[in-house]
Amino acid sequence: MTNWHIEERLSAYLANEVEPEEKDFIESHLETCANCRQELEFLQELQLSSKCFCYR
Ligand SMILES: [Zn+2]
Repeated sequence: MTNWHIEERLSAYLANEVEPEEKDFIESHLETCANCRQELEFLQELQLSSKCFCYR
């Protein structure tokens, strides 16, 4: 496997727009990559805050 990072796929992953195989790949990558975990958390917060203001 290359040193490929998945930042660009994380928004699709959050929106459930990825194939099951890609989802598996992303999840296993997240277990090994702190950078992408941080990015995912950031995107999740961004999504929550842009969709619903009740959480504030
Ligand atoms: Zn990564």
